[in-house]
Order: sequence, then C-alpha cells, then structure tokens
Amino acid sequence: MVNHQTIGDRAAHLSPEDLAALRENLHEQRLFRQEQLRRIAAPPRAEDLLRRHSAAQAEVDVKVAASARMVLADVEAALRRIAEGRYGMCHLCRRPVERERLLIVPQARYCARCQQVREAGR
Ligand SMILES: [Zn+2]
Repeated sequence: MVNHQTIGDRAAHLSPEDLAALRENLHEQRLFRQEQLRRIAAPPRAEDLLRRHSAAQAEVDVKVAASARMVLADVEAALRRIAEGRYGMCHLCRRPVERERLLIVPQARYCARCQQVREAGR
C-alpha cells in the first residue's frame, strides 16, 4: 500500500526548533507593538500636558501607530500561519521562504525574490 501523504513539503526547511524560536520572536514583537499602541493611545501624562502635546508630536504618534498596527497585523498573520501549519511558504511563488530571511523577518510573507519584485513594482 502506498501512502500518498504529503507531510514534509511544507516548511520542510524549518526545524521544530526554528519554528519554536520564530514563534517566540513573533510573540515578543506582538507584545512590543501592543504596548507601543497602548502608550500612544493612553491619555497624555502630566508632564506632557505641561509641555503641551505639540502638533508635531501628535503627527509622529499617528505615523508610529500606523506602522505599529501594520507590523502587528503581519505578526498576527504569521502566528496564525504557524498555528495552521502553513508558515514559511512564499505567498506569491509558493516556494519556501529562505530560512535566513525568516530568522531576520519572521513575519515575512514573500521570499526575497518576490519581495524585491513587489518593491520594484511600487
Ligand atoms: Zn516568492
């Protein structure tokens, strides 16, 4: 009897230890971003009120919050992919995303080549 199961073709380039480390890293990033968003959303502290929350600072806050929310969404999507066992594959070419790349950017959706193509197309 031939077993046609295809276990192992997904993220086969990542060891269970790699995945555990990546998950850990993503959890930390999520905490950090959530904390960052909480700080920005929190009412200004007394010393900020004394200095007056300047318009320039408010503009910076908006930009930081926007990028924090973007990273947070990416991080949460990556955690979901790990939970569903489809982590580490490029969303465009379906090939494995380079291990070295994932260790640097665990939430990466695309392999280095597809990312470059996307950025060039902007
Ligand atoms: Zn790709």
